[in-house]
Amino acid sequence: MLEIRNYINGVETGPGNGTWLDVINPALGEVYAKLPRSGEADIETAYKAAAAAFPTWSDTTLPERSRILSSIADMIEEQLIPLAEAESKDNGKPLSLALSVDIPRASANFRFFAHAITQFASEAHESVGTQTMNFTLRQPLGVVGCISPWNLPLYLFTWKIAPALAAGNTVVAKPSEVTPLTSYLLGKICTEAGLPKGVLNIVHGLGNEAGEAIVTHPQIKAISFTGGTKTGAHIARTAAPMFKKLSLELGGKNPNLIFADCDYQKMLATTVRSSFANQGQICLCGSRIFVQASVYEQFKKDFVQRVQQLVVGAPEASTTQVGAVVSEAHRDKIEAYIKLAQEEGGILLCGGNRVSVPDFEQGYYLEPTVIEVKDNQCRVNQEEIFGPVVTLMPFTDEADALEKANAVRYGLSATVWTQNIDTAMRLSKNLEAGVVWINTWLNRDLRTPFGGTKDSGVGREGGFEALRFFTEAKNVCIQYGNGKTP
Ligand code: NDP
Repeated sequence: MLEIRNYINGVETGPGNGTWLDVINPALGEVYAKLPRSGEADIETAYKAAAAAFPTWSDTTLPERSRILSSIADMIEEQLIPLAEAESKDNGKPLSLALSVDIPRASANFRFFAHAITQFASEAHESVGTQTMNFTLRQPLGVVGCISPWNLPLYLFTWKIAPALAAGNTVVAKPSEVTPLTSYLLGKICTEAGLPKGVLNIVHGLGNEAGEAIVTHPQIKAISFTGGTKTGAHIARTAAPMFKKLSLELGGKNPNLIFADCDYQKMLATTVRSSFANQGQICLCGSRIFVQASVYEQFKKDFVQRVQQLVVGAPEASTTQVGAVVSEAHRDKIEAYIKLAQEEGGILLCGGNRVSVPDFEQGYYLEPTVIEVKDNQCRVNQEEIFGPVVTLMPFTDEADALEKANAVRYGLSATVWTQNIDTAMRLSKNLEAGVVWINTWLNRDLRTPFGGTKDSGVGREGGFEALRFFTEAKNVCIQYGNGKTP
């Protein structure tokens, strides 16, 4: 059986306490690997390696840092197929998705920040008339912690690690225990690409053990976390008294607002994708679909018809559009929400059942599910399900659409379909979300800020925002000549 190991100080090691966890292939419902159940001692070892590597790495020239990060990007690209196969096996996602989205984006994350750091500048402020010049030093923080979830494993792991390293920090990172395989393979790539030992340390284990040990470590200066809102709140409570810098990318319950004047065919195709890509397990999926009343019935018919055509199947099959959800526990949670929806008066328009895939009968497959709801405040429309389940509801006009969209505790992303520029502009301004897409979805330029409002998170990553997060700004004030202090 495959033995996934920690990557500490450039060396692959088992857990100090000798205990291991099972890793399950969700497409088969079978254990395929074992994983260190690391504890505080492993995090301490990783921290020491990162602290020892920090002086040299933070003083490494930008072209050299950039070169090493670019080599990692190249090697991820070269290993596209084995990495995509590993991601698909670990997560249950269609191989085609891992090949076209997850792994290319992991490479793009390293390539982007390898370039971005060479363009990152800080400000200077001349205090005119006093012969004083201020300039801002942006210095790396030291050892930082990166904790990532299971839905887009390597994609989100690298989204944090690449800017942290580019900015000159050294890292202790923990991927989700549910999907550790590609981060394990990344350790091997980093060694081959010449990343000095100790600069990146990857420690596997449970969130409330290894993850918690990162968050509570007194010398780890910042935590970049992506995961559930409940875990994020716990991390915020734990880290706040230690005055750590925090970036929290949390859950979502994103509205998809469809106006009668939209480009209907483009909207329809994209809405199927924004509902069910990655089995609906993307924090940015549009899980609440609101449709203008005049096109509601037409949309309902067309959408359900398209959704029923989606092929649920084994991740590696080229025809598969919807793979397995990530775990048995997660499948059970999604099913409980489908049941709740009906108890709350929702109407099941399609889906709702398990799918038995030939030769993969024990895997965790669910039909893409569409539910018509009557009450925007029902739990199914308010709580994050994070699976292949969307709700439909009509709205009357722009004001009604806005009110319904914002009436939720989350504020990650929103999508608007309209040809009316005035509607689009007003909604862009008034929607409570960190990201608004107009006539598109999941269209990401890596230079743009990314993050959520309300219970969807605190802080922004992406582009220079990430480099700002992973550096401390220090103002240096110099007076020269006979300058007088004002
Ligand atoms: P979790 O919050 O359960 O876990 C996220 C990570 O945190 C995992 O590595 C987990 O470890 C770890 N963790 C759990 N408890 C602790 C703790 N006490 N201290 C430190 N680390 C801990 O989220 P999921 O993995 O279930 O991911 C799904 C969630 O992520 C959804 O809510 C989704 O919306 C959100 N998400 C948000 C995104 C965004 O950009 N806003 C993007 C993608 C997902 P382990 O799994 O090993 O227990």
